Amino acid sequence: MLYVSTRGQAEPTSFLDAVMAGQASDGGLFTPQFIPDVSKVMASWKDLSYQELAHRLMLYFTDDVPTDDLQQLINKSYATFEHPAISPVVKVGNLHILELFHGPTLAFKDFGLQFLGNVFSYGLEKQNRDNLNILCATSGDTGGAAIAGLRDKERINIFVLFPKGRPSRLQILQMTTLLGKSAHSLSVRGTFDDCQAIVKSIFSDSQFNQEHSLGSANSVNWGRVLAQIVYYFFAYFQVIREIGQKVIFSVPAGNFGNSLAGYIAARMGLPIELILLGNNVNDTLSKFFNTGSYQKGKVLHTLSPAIDIQVASNLERYLYYYFNGSAEKVCGFLKQFNRTGVVAVSNGGPIDKRIAACSVSDEETLSTMKAMWQENEYMLDPHTAVSVAATQKMRSDKACPVICLSTAHAAKFQETVRTALAGQTVEHPSLSRLESLPQKYTELAADKKEVMSYIESALT
Ligand SMILES: *Cc1c(COP(=O)(O)O)cnc(C)c1O
Repeated sequence: MLYVSTRGQAEPTSFLDAVMAGQASDGGLFTPQFIPDVSKVMASWKDLSYQELAHRLMLYFTDDVPTDDLQQLINKSYATFEHPAISPVVKVGNLHILELFHGPTLAFKDFGLQFLGNVFSYGLEKQNRDNLNILCATSGDTGGAAIAGLRDKERINIFVLFPKGRPSRLQILQMTTLLGKSAHSLSVRGTFDDCQAIVKSIFSDSQFNQEHSLGSANSVNWGRVLAQIVYYFFAYFQVIREIGQKVIFSVPAGNFGNSLAGYIAARMGLPIELILLGNNVNDTLSKFFNTGSYQKGKVLHTLSPAIDIQVASNLERYLYYYFNGSAEKVCGFLKQFNRTGVVAVSNGGPIDKRIAACSVSDEETLSTMKAMWQENEYMLDPHTAVSVAATQKMRSDKACPVICLSTAHAAKFQETVRTALAGQTVEHPSLSRLESLPQKYTELAADKKEVMSYIESALT
């Protein structure tokens, strides 16, 4: 499998090269040249363990990693998860909840970042490279998961940019304690979109990029999306009565990386009737899928901070498929968007029969958390509540099983849980132990130059 850039101006490249580079040299995202069809073979995967299934699926995408090495990378990546099923599905009322929070930092980001950390080490070894310096922007969960996935790896440094004061208290603790020597936490006076824009623009500075051997841990990195495809298949096998039955996945969408993994699973032949996207009031994506018009709004702060995003980085990969592989059209779209802040791909109405979307308010998030607790004694984190609320708003027909992706453990958002559930508390030992540890971080302005000079001095 070769990887091409969504902007068409970079050489097609192998899996390891695409993952090590993070982003293509033309500013685009590496994406598989074609999407393999597994519909004829997937029935034989039904009873595989998570790690075995991951191996079968990833083999289609990882030509330059020998098959035994791949299995070892996968086994190592998921050995850090607390649940034997890795991504269990539980039935709650008439919904299936896919619990993606059993990794070391209690959010689904661990699926991509535990794997990425091991692939980075493997790639450094294979390519005889001296070092790799990872730069990432986070709205809260990526930072902690990236630090947990990378901090103990030799020859890898990591720089995490988060919007000052925005992640939850415990998310900030995950990013500012247990850093070791090689992780740097930067509290940026700005929004997540500011952090993401700074990271993007540093990547496009090719001289700085090469001199400092930069890599990416955001979901622009294909390695993360690849790892996330696996749990769509795994969940499917846990829920259906027979292969071929259709299911619906409901996903809280921020940067669109998680949803894109589901979209690719569908294109690979997994019988997905529909992917439901849940946005909070930052609903640029919902509007795009519902009307064909993409218009940037101002970021509003909500109770689901991980999806307080207006410019979703992985939409670019979707556009590449939407335009049938025309990089020219992707570039035209981006150019117009950057110039005017608005662009339309159709004359109105939903643009993809595989994707439906809606936006969920903070009030609906809280009432959904409360109802799930009162009716089922099941505690939702606010992001999972967005996907459950989106399901309830959009889906009345009960014929097709609905699988809601639970992207974080409720204990990461204690304040919101307390508000929603009238004082109810929730804890997790891996978070409680951070409370007494010293914090380390540096505050910077939302300014590319300040971030670049911080990196420079940290690496000398
Ligand atoms: C990152 C994150 C999301 C959004 O996922 P994307 O891949 O960015 O769409 C949703 N919920 C939680 C808890 C997250 O950490």
